[in-house]
Amino acid sequence: RERGPARTRFAPSPTGYLHLGSLRTALFNYLVAKATGGQFLLRVEDTDQKRTIPDAEARLYEDLKWAGLDWDEGPTVGGPYGPYKQSERTALYRDHAEKLLDAGSAYRCFCTPERLHTLAEYQSKLGLPADYDRTCAHVSKAESDERAVKGEAHVIRLKVPDESDRPVFRDLVYGLIRPRNTSKGNPKVRSVALTLFDDPVLLKSDGFPTYHLANVVDDHLMKITHVIRGSEWISSTPKHLAMYQAFGWDPPAFAHVGLLLDKDRQKLSKRTGSVDISEWRQQGIFPETLNNFVALLGWSHDTGSDIMSMEELISNASMKYTRGDSVVAFEKLWFLQKRHA
Ligand code: GLU
Repeated sequence: RERGPARTRFAPSPTGYLHLGSLRTALFNYLVAKATGGQFLLRVEDTDQKRTIPDAEARLYEDLKWAGLDWDEGPTVGGPYGPYKQSERTALYRDHAEKLLDAGSAYRCFCTPERLHTLAEYQSKLGLPADYDRTCAHVSKAESDERAVKGEAHVIRLKVPDESDRPVFRDLVYGLIRPRNTSKGNPKVRSVALTLFDDPVLLKSDGFPTYHLANVVDDHLMKITHVIRGSEWISSTPKHLAMYQAFGWDPPAFAHVGLLLDKDRQKLSKRTGSVDISEWRQQGIFPETLNNFVALLGWSHDTGSDIMSMEELISNASMKYTRGDSVVAFEKLWFLQKRHA
């Protein structure tokens, strides 16, 4: 699978602007697609309308085009290219949630926010994780259908597999990941602390999909071969794999890349140097410089030189990303800027 043309995607949510970390994720996906003669897709994950920043989407397109990361396809056949927007595809996600419902791999949950809140409070008092207690998994199909027809508010939850059936996966960067704490005695197996007991919500009560549902359905329908994304998503991956299993689909390969940190090993922030791409643009940084700079953060290559053009980045593209987070040294950026001038 690693040798054929790769189909990759960059899937930002318009809840913030493109910054060094997300540019790097986009670039890694772009390079792998271009290096293998494949495609790089842009998918705007805009189903959480409450958190959307109004001009984030427009700025995203501008910033990506400025960086030269043009995407390959979109929903408009013959017209100007996409990108895909999840908010235009909500019927599709609803259909898929219903498929799982019909197959018995998902169920309607009628628990009110108040009940869930009380449950979480109780669990936290006992020092238990705030997992959904599966009350509604035991509602009969007939009763569930009847309550839905009557218009009772509900979400749809995935019924996660029993412990013995939980998906273990091999991340291309982090190695074997097992979704519970059984790594004792076998340091090669990394466990992910996650609440897989918790049946994730797929469809919200307003009929909008959650990130998990829309992300998995789209990666499958868009025939994505490699998901390259930030390591903060590792703990979601077993949930995603449980969904692939429920749908009967083959999952893509996953490569999680570490995060970018400042010298104090804190997440990059405005305080430690501007991070939004549009701010770098205003400072006169060249796109070549910024691509070169972010590509070298947490990626190793065999060329002797660290000054690389886009063509060189493509011809050297590989998945040799380092495990763990990378510290950003901004002096290097200005050094590269001089060399690209
Ligand atoms: N929408 C998610 C984000 O904003 C996408 C994560 C993924 O690549 O699966 O980062």
